[in-house]
Amino acid sequence: MQAVWRNKAIADTYEPGSVFKLITTSAALEEGIVTDIDKQGEFCCTGSIEVAGVRIKCWRYYRPHGSESLRMALMNSCNPVFIGLGQKLGVKTYYSYLNKFRLLSKTGIDLPGEANSIFLAEEKAGPVELATISFGQRFEITPIQLATAVSSIANGGTSITPRIVKQIINSKTKEIKDVPVKKNGTVISKETSEKVLSMMETVVSEGTGKNAKVAGYRIGGKTGTSEDGVNTNKYVTSFCRSGAN
Ligand SMILES: [Zn+2]
Repeated sequence: MQAVWRNKAIADTYEPGSVFKLITTSAALEEGIVTDIDKQGEFCCTGSIEVAGVRIKCWRYYRPHGSESLRMALMNSCNPVFIGLGQKLGVKTYYSYLNKFRLLSKTGIDLPGEANSIFLAEEKAGPVELATISFGQRFEITPIQLATAVSSIANGGTSITPRIVKQIINSKTKEIKDVPVKKNGTVISKETSEKVLSMMETVVSEGTGKNAKVAGYRIGGKTGTSEDGVNTNKYVTSFCRSGAN
């Protein structure tokens, strides 16, 4: 019975899959690894990439994506591009972004029972582990951690602690008590956040997230699919969306 009341968004962890490419993208732009998000031929998908002697496939290995800009790579959700960006960032810098995006700690939301993420310790992460993290696999986070991280992209780069209550109004005295927004510093610059948001909009207008379109709103997003456990044939799909009118 208790399972029914379990708040999965904060108490359960899962493997986010390709939604996580937004984090890799943000870090790569912020570190200047990519500057022009529309440069044709910036990347080339050959169907796989070799990392420390291990060949990792693109999901579309049977028909490689070929020449791509960063925007196209995100729209195509092309694994080798994000693996390559992760390798250029390196473990130390990549983990510093996990930390800045507050993915290594609980969000501090005002609800009980929040779980924390499960990542390999930084000192144990080698190039192959970094490669899988870069496209969203082999670690687990809570949905609220992902939403908090993506909200900092939508907020112009500022990380905030999620809150349930915005304001308390005393119905008798009409006294208003505001619950303040708690800011946790800058994760990425405004310029980087605008670039990522622009690409997220393309995912919805032309790519894998077309079903998220809402008339009258600017909607951005990123899809993700991951396996629920090993060889279970059960899949977890994710869609993370940000919107403004
Ligand atoms: Zn590809």
